[in-house]
Formats: sequence, structure tokens, C-alpha cells
Amino acid sequence: MKLFRKKYKFNRESLQYEEVKFSFKRFLARMIPYTISSVIFGAVIMFLYIVVFESPEEKILRSENEYLEKNFKEMSRRLEQSDSLLNEMAKRDNYIYRSLFEQDTIPCTIRNAGTGGSDVYSKYDGYETSDLVKSVAKKLDRIESKMNVQSMSYVTILDEIKHREKISSSLPVFQPIRPGDLTSIGSYFGYRMHPVLHFLRMHTGIDMNAATGTPVYAAGDGVVVTADGNNHGYGNMVEIDHKVDGLSSRYAHLSKILVKKGQYVKRGELIGKVGSTGMSTGPHLHYEVLIDGKQVNPLRYMITPTADEYKAMIEAANYTGVSFD
Ligand SMILES: [Zn+2]
Repeated sequence: MKLFRKKYKFNRESLQYEEVKFSFKRFLARMIPYTISSVIFGAVIMFLYIVVFESPEEKILRSENEYLEKNFKEMSRRLEQSDSLLNEMAKRDNYIYRSLFEQDTIPCTIRNAGTGGSDVYSKYDGYETSDLVKSVAKKLDRIESKMNVQSMSYVTILDEIKHREKISSSLPVFQPIRPGDLTSIGSYFGYRMHPVLHFLRMHTGIDMNAATGTPVYAAGDGVVVTADGNNHGYGNMVEIDHKVDGLSSRYAHLSKILVKKGQYVKRGELIGKVGSTGMSTGPHLHYEVLIDGKQVNPLRYMITPTADEYKAMIEAANYTGVSFD
């Protein structure tokens, strides 16, 4: 098939058909309207297709967006739950733990302090889901900040517990003679008739009667500051500095000293044996507790194994008998 067919035109003068010469101009004039209408028609069809139907890529993207939005909302909800949990922890921390360990409560303004201004979140601007992403980011920051405060609070409490443990293990509360070894209490703290000097004078400790060689234990943790026999009436004596509140304890009239000066001892550690050295009339332990070098009643600190024994010791403390010194 020929691209252009020959065209003929009837000539009225010559009464013949004459071939019409091809003219590009005429060709264009006839083709342009067809072309324009085709292009317009095509564009309309394309536009309708785009509006009514989605391309496969658009479909995937839309489904991904929906998936992300749904999951972001779910995460946002879970973050809110974590935030409420942290608020509960903060309440317990303030009103139970910190109060128990005599620490000031941490005010809400510090616990809920945010991070920076609104500018921090402007980087999330410009998208349909910006508000959702921003709210999740804000929640995360708030939780992070609360967790930091909570963590610091626990560190403070832990330090306080360690400090108290140290103090509590240092206090001279342990009875230096095992209850089974203790035959009786010869004399308590207070004014007593002196067995050798025969006049009423202050008895500066407790006399714990026990057989010679009975083990004597440290009443609390501390450092041995005296461990020798050069103590006049006290005979062989051990003195422990407990390094807390100016407290120290003395164990006198020992038959044997089992520790050395400068040694660190733990509560309940064997430090010597009961004896009758120094100014003493029989085997017993003269036990003293001192604050800043001044004797106080050891019963203020001593914990005896049973409540009944403790009560008996308190009752007997009021009895003014003869001390063994
Ligand atoms: Zn005594």
C-alpha cells in the first residue's frame, strides 16, 4: 500500500481528470486537527486512569504508609503505658524508698523535665504523619528523662543502704560471750561496791562471768587500737575503734589476746580468751562501750539472743551488787 495515493481533480475546462500535485502545506493543514484531537483524547484517558486507578508502586506505598501509621499508633499507646508505669515507680520511689532512707523526695518538675524546646521536633515536620511521629518522639524523650532520674535516685538509695550497712555492722551490738558460755552477769554498768577497794564507785562496764579460756568475740567491725597487758587494773585488754559515731569497745582481764594492734576485725571475730588478769577476783570479761573515750552503758547497744534474756539483763541492771571489776 502506498503511503500517499495519487489524487485527481476534474478540470471543467479541459473536461479531464488531472493529477493533483502533493503539497506538504495542505497535508499539514489536514493532519494537525487530527493530531491535536488525538493528543487531547489520549491525555483525557490518561488523566482518568490516574484519577480512578493507582499504579502498582502507588498501591505498595499506600499500603506501607497504612502499615507504618497503624504500628506507630500502637507503639504510641504502649509508650503511654510505660510512662504510667514509670509514674507509679516514681511515686513508690518518693514516698516509700526515699522516705524509708530519709532522702528528700524528687519534685515532679525534675522528674518530668523534657528535653529541649519544640525546635527539637521540627525535623519531623512536613509530612502527613508528622504529628504522629512527633508525639512518639516526645513520649520517648519523656520516658528516657524519667528513667534517668529514677536510675540516679536508685544509685543514691543504694549508697545510703551501703553506708547504713557499714554503720550497722560497725555498731557494737554483738554479745562478746556466747550465751551458752555465759554463766551469769556479775555486775552491770553503774555505781557498785568495789570488790577490792571496798567503796562505792562507778563500774564502767558489764562483768560477764565465764570460765577461763572462754572465747571472746568482737561486738562490731572495727580496728584494734589496744591489744596488750599494759592497762593497769584492766590486765590484758583489747580495745576496738568502731569508726562510727566515736564508738569503741573494750574487753578486759583476758587470759589470752588473739589479735594485734592495727588489725581490722569483723563482728563476731574471736579476739581473745576470758581470764582474770589485772585487778580481778575471778575469771570474767569486763566489757565496756565508749563514745569519744567516755564509757556508756553497753546495754544501749548490745543485742542478746532472746528477748527474755535481754529483759532479764535490763532488770538485773538496776541491782546494785558487788562488781568483779
Ligand atoms: Zn568490771
